[in-house]
Amino acid sequence: MTSAIVTLKPGKDQSLRRRHPWVFSGAIARLQGEVVEGEVVTVQASNGEVLGVGHYAPGSIAVRMLDFGAGAQLPDAAFWEARLRNAYQLRQGLGLTGTGNTNVYRLTHAEGDGVPGLIIDVYGDTAVVQAHSAGMYKARPLIAEALQAVIPGLRAIYDKSAETVPAKAAPGAQNGYLFGGGSGQEHVVHENGHPFAVDWETGQKTGFFIDQRDNRSLLARYAPGRRVLNTFCYTGGFSSYALQAGAELVHSVDSSKRAIELTERNAALTGLESKHAAYAEDVFSFMKNSQEQYDLIVLDPPAFAKHLSARHNALMGYKRLNAAGIRQIAPGGLLFTFSCSQVVSAELFEGAVLAAAIEAGRPARILHRLTQPADHPVSLFHPEGEYLKGLVLAVE
Ligand code: SAH
Repeated sequence: MTSAIVTLKPGKDQSLRRRHPWVFSGAIARLQGEVVEGEVVTVQASNGEVLGVGHYAPGSIAVRMLDFGAGAQLPDAAFWEARLRNAYQLRQGLGLTGTGNTNVYRLTHAEGDGVPGLIIDVYGDTAVVQAHSAGMYKARPLIAEALQAVIPGLRAIYDKSAETVPAKAAPGAQNGYLFGGGSGQEHVVHENGHPFAVDWETGQKTGFFIDQRDNRSLLARYAPGRRVLNTFCYTGGFSSYALQAGAELVHSVDSSKRAIELTERNAALTGLESKHAAYAEDVFSFMKNSQEQYDLIVLDPPAFAKHLSARHNALMGYKRLNAAGIRQIAPGGLLFTFSCSQVVSAELFEGAVLAAAIEAGRPARILHRLTQPADHPVSLFHPEGEYLKGLVLAVE
């Protein structure tokens, strides 16, 4: 129990009893004690029964639950070590923590690992932490200690929360090393044996899109001998796999110059850069101006909808992008198409791709339905944690 107590309205306790980790502000009847942003609070039902503990924030999601039930554990050093050890053991079982064939993985996927608001990605011997809530931001010292206890050989912890913690909750927050260091040097990691230079200090998110690992492997099966276009390439993950799998040529497109530099660096690490060309350009204008036909096209745009209110426009965007992609595929070619918008379901996304194929006038078959990998697990009690969906289409 904490001295800060959040009491729910009658009937609003059901979702917590089902271990859904969010308490919405509309469900709250009363706040008692020091209920301030980022602090740990006890949540109780209207009859006083303790339902669990969580991090408080004044907003639509008022409490992010850390533990449930009358015996809920407070987030002390032992709590963090147990949570992170549990997460680490899962990745160990997935074969991600071992020998170096893959040494980049997601250690905690927020709600999916029982730590709402906390992302930790591991790059070799460095962990990159991103707190998405004030509570997780304040907990960083304990989290950093637990990380050192749990990950053998960990040499550095980089904190990238300044970009993700709500600004009001952490005025003046700055990215930087919580432990160890390594500024300025190039960091090369391996994913399924493919080398990638990763820049977590200035890169997007934590530096690399780890969530496409399995889908890149699938692409490698189809890439030999094909002419490949990788759009929204960022650091060129799909491009490197295609090159190493024996693609005839690979073209990579991203509007960010820095992303294109990283893609070119990573293509050079494969030693096959003579088969690669990269373009710092808007994908829509690239496709409009290009006369090329490709045998395999990857469409992996950033989230077109971050909120429900933007969903309709996002669906129109997916339709337009996919129609342009389908038009540029040689007969018999393949489209790898993705959406990482959490508010766009797999069904809605498939509908947008269907509309695109109709508009392009090209029959197509679904060969694979894709999602996020196992180190981005989805809690059964929190289906909102599922965000990545993809289709592989054979286009006639
Ligand atoms: N497929 C990548 C991740 C894509 S992230 C991977 O596997 O790592 C989305 C990328 O899209 C970002 O790098 C961003 O710079 C780029 N981007 C966003 N809008 C764009 C546009 N209109 N044209 C080209 N690139 C764009």
